[in-house]
Amino acid sequence: MPNIFNVHCMMCGRASGHIREGKFHQLPSTPPPITRAGRSRCGFCGGNLYLEAEDSPFAPQLVATTTKGVTRRAS
Ligand SMILES: [Zn+2]
Repeated sequence: MPNIFNVHCMMCGRASGHIREGKFHQLPSTPPPITRAGRSRCGFCGGNLYLEAEDSPFAPQLVATTTKGVTRRAS
């Protein structure tokens, strides 16, 4: 079961960030989501946001690399 979800906009299709271990992580190049009537909306266009499960086989490695600061060498 995935524990990483990408957050996308239904209107413009842009990614706002991702949810990892229950916490939202905003992408550095995006405006923060707008909260309106208790719902989060796209910071670009105000559209509805949806979650998409990250099913990439490399996702667990990316999480380990980014959270622990470990880098992998290309051999
Ligand atoms: Zn949008």
